[in-house]
Amino acid sequence: MLKLPDSKILFILGIILSPSAWSAQKSELSYCIDPNWYPLSYTDNGTHKGLSADLIKRIQIHSGLSFVLHNTNSWSESYSEILNGGCDVIFDIQSTEKRRKHLVFSDVIYKSELVFVTNKQERYITDPKAFVRNSRLGLVDEYGPSDSLNIQSASYYRSLKSGLIALFNNEIDAMVDSSEVMQYILMEEFPGFSINSGTGVYWELRAAVKKENASIIKEINPAIAAISTDELNQLRQKWFWYKEPKPEFQWLYQISPVLLLLCFAIYYFYSQGVRLKALSVKDELTSQLNRRGINKSLRLAYSLFLRANINFSIIIIDIDHFKVINDKHGHLEGDNVLKSLSQLLQHQLRNSDTLGRWGGEEFMIICFNTELNDAVAIAERLRATIEKDMKVDGKSLTASFGIADIESSPGAGIDNLIRVADERLYQAKMSGRNRCIPDLASCEA
Ligand code: GH3
Ligand code: MG
Ligand code: MG
Repeated sequence: MLKLPDSKILFILGIILSPSAWSAQKSELSYCIDPNWYPLSYTDNGTHKGLSADLIKRIQIHSGLSFVLHNTNSWSESYSEILNGGCDVIFDIQSTEKRRKHLVFSDVIYKSELVFVTNKQERYITDPKAFVRNSRLGLVDEYGPSDSLNIQSASYYRSLKSGLIALFNNEIDAMVDSSEVMQYILMEEFPGFSINSGTGVYWELRAAVKKENASIIKEINPAIAAISTDELNQLRQKWFWYKEPKPEFQWLYQISPVLLLLCFAIYYFYSQGVRLKALSVKDELTSQLNRRGINKSLRLAYSLFLRANINFSIIIIDIDHFKVINDKHGHLEGDNVLKSLSQLLQHQLRNSDTLGRWGGEEFMIICFNTELNDAVAIAERLRATIEKDMKVDGKSLTASFGIADIESSPGAGIDNLIRVADERLYQAKMSGRNRCIPDLASCEA
């Protein structure tokens, strides 16, 4: 009897028993897929993409096998290629009785429910089995209709799209295919149809090889088992729930809440700013400029005087015996008098004059490009109008005026101008009130 050395026996046994025996003979396996089954499986410039492509990559990693895509134009062409030996493995294939005569199938790689797509008007299918019996169904050519769905006769189409067009033309009642694939194609291209209901039957997608290559399946099966549920769920999410938004708008969707908040914040702070700015120079009671506003206008007038030698005058107005009004009629009535007086003054002034509340019951008017005697004339007119039109308790209200112009004391600045006007106001009070100092006579002199 021939006696072999132990090491040789082990080597031969290794080739027979080792699952990697087949792949050791052939380093690369060509594989066929469905090139038009987005997002489960499709080709993009000859590259395999979709959930199926990702799963095949995992199978490669876990098995150590190396797969190379054998490009075809359709699923039926892929199916012929596996039978003719054009490719070594076919993926995403349903095991049917007819196919099992020629092919050996792997364990299930991925499950997908078959759904009925109908016109939106079609009523909800409550009994899928009865619907299958009584309806004209459409399937994609060579997609093994599930044995358990028991479809006896159907119309076959070259692609899902051509089947849906037949549905649109009312040639069939429903098209049957994987839920994930249907969701996408309806969303993108056939908004008039909807998934009516599930069939309750799952498409179990596997790998298959010709019977003589059965050993490949022995290598693929452990790799399928090594794909964890988490891994599979992640891939499902990537392909089915993550709908790639149009790239140019993707960032907009993401930042839109932030953008909205930002716009709101800008608007809010802007409007608050405008409000505060207005408040900061406005007197609340009379709505005229407050002291800060008047000072701003004074600085502007003074800079014009320095740069362009444009004269300006100021008129300070102080109500006579205002305390009496407060004491007799109360503060509210005093406030009303202040409001009425500010309105009257505003009404009397030229557009180029600036009115403001200087403080308490004092107002100031800045008269741009106005000589002293013109300012005195304005003041005198105002004094007479107040005396004539403003009545408190039947008695005339009066005011005293201090007037000064910048040209008369140049170089001394705004403070000096105000001091001069204040002194003249004091003189007006001292010499009997209800008058303007300097008075018209002294101006003319
Ligand atoms: P005169 O100027 O003629 O010497 O007498 P007067 O009574 O007007 O005296 P003074 O200018 O000293 O008094 C101003 C008064 O104005 C004192 C204050 O109570 C009152 N006053 C100041 N601000 C307001 C205000 O906003 N509302 C009211 N109702 N009164 C004010
Ligand atoms: Mg006063
Ligand atoms: Mg007063």
